[in-house]
Amino acid sequence: NRRFLLVRRPQGTPVPEDFELVSADIPAPPSGGIVVRNHYVSLDPAQRGWMDDAPSYMPPIPLGDPVRATTVGIVHASDNPDFTPGQWVMGLNAIEDYSVAMPGGFTMPVDVAAVASPSNFLSALGAVGLTAYFGLLEAGKPQPGETILVSGAAGAVGSAVGQIGKIVGCRVVGIAGGPDKCRRLIEDYGFDAAIDYKGKDVETLAAEIAKAAPDGANVVFENVGGMVMEAELFNLALHARIVLCGLISEYNSEEKIGMRNLWQVLARRAVVHGFLIADYADRFAEGGAKMAQWLAEGKMRIDEDVQEGLENAYDAFMRLFSGANTGKLVLKIA
Ligand code: NDP
Repeated sequence: NRRFLLVRRPQGTPVPEDFELVSADIPAPPSGGIVVRNHYVSLDPAQRGWMDDAPSYMPPIPLGDPVRATTVGIVHASDNPDFTPGQWVMGLNAIEDYSVAMPGGFTMPVDVAAVASPSNFLSALGAVGLTAYFGLLEAGKPQPGETILVSGAAGAVGSAVGQIGKIVGCRVVGIAGGPDKCRRLIEDYGFDAAIDYKGKDVETLAAEIAKAAPDGANVVFENVGGMVMEAELFNLALHARIVLCGLISEYNSEEKIGMRNLWQVLARRAVVHGFLIADYADRFAEGGAKMAQWLAEGKMRIDEDVQEGLENAYDAFMRLFSGANTGKLVLKIA
C-alpha cells in the first residue's frame, strides 16, 4: 500500500521534500467500514489549500497523513452490508493505493458501465461538472443575452462553465494562458471570445476584456484571482454577480495582501458569491443527470489530463500550477 504523505507544510510553491512516498500494509476494514483500492485520484487546486494550516471550510491535512483526495476505486474488503467487494465507489479518500472509508460520509457507489472511463466521476460527472453547473446557474444566475466572463477558462471547471453559458444563451468570454489554450476555447469549447493573460499588465488585460465584452460582464466566474481578477473588476456590468469559485494564482503566494480594485464592486453594485460545491450535495443527482444529458447530446465536452503512477504524484500535481494540464487532472494509480 503506497501512500503519498504530507510531511511538511509547503512555504509558497510545494517542493518534493514536502512529501514522502511510503509503503504500508493493506488495512483491514474497521467495524462498519470498507477498504477501497483506489484506481483514479483527482488532483485538484484545492488540495494546495488543504496543505496549509489556515482557516478554511475543512481542517488542514494533518502532517504525516496521506494527501486528501477524491478517488474512484473498487471495494477491496467490506464490513458493511451496503458495499460488496468488487463494487466501484467514489469518495473523499487520499493519494494512496488503499483507503479506509466509512460509508455515510462522501463514499458512494458509481455505475462505471454507464461511462467511458471511471475517471469521468472525477471530471464531468464529479466535482468539476457539478461546480460548473451549480456555480454558474445557482450562484451566477445568468440570463439569456448576458455576458459571462470566465477565468481559468481552458481548465476543467472553466471550460465547463463556458459551455453551460452557451447552452443557456449567453455570450461567453474566456481568459486563459497562451495562444493554444485560447484557440481551444473557441474551437473546442465554443467560447465567443478568448483572451490570453500571459505577459500582460492589469491595464492591458482590462482593455482587452473591454473589447471582448463592451457592455461589461454580468457574471464573472472566478477561478484565478490575482491580477487577472483585478483586470476583470474594471469590466463589471451594473449589478454584476461575481462567483468566487477559486483563486489559484494565490494558492502558492506567501504574500497575504491583494485586491486593489475592490472599489469597482461598489461602483457597479456587484455581488460577490463565495461558492463551495459541497453546499449542493443534496442536489448532486440533479446536476449529474443534467451533465450526463448534455454530454450524451454532444452539447458538452470535458477533457481529462490523465497522468500515470502514484510515484509521479508530485510532478502531476504541479501541472495545475504551471498550466501544463489540458483538462481535468487525474492520476491513474492502478
Ligand atoms: P484547472 O483544470 O483549471 O487547472 C488549473 C489551471 O489554473 C491551470 O491549467 C492554469 O491555466 C491556471 N493557473 C494556474 N496558475 C495560475 C496563475 N498563477 N494565474 C492564472 N492562472 C493560473 O483546475 P480546476 O478546474 O480543477 O480548478 C479551477 C478552479 O476552480 C480552482 O481555483 C479551484 O480551486 C476551483 N474549484 C473550486 C471549487 C469550489 O467548490 N469552490 C470546486 C472545484 C474547483 P492557464 O494555463 O490558463 O494559466
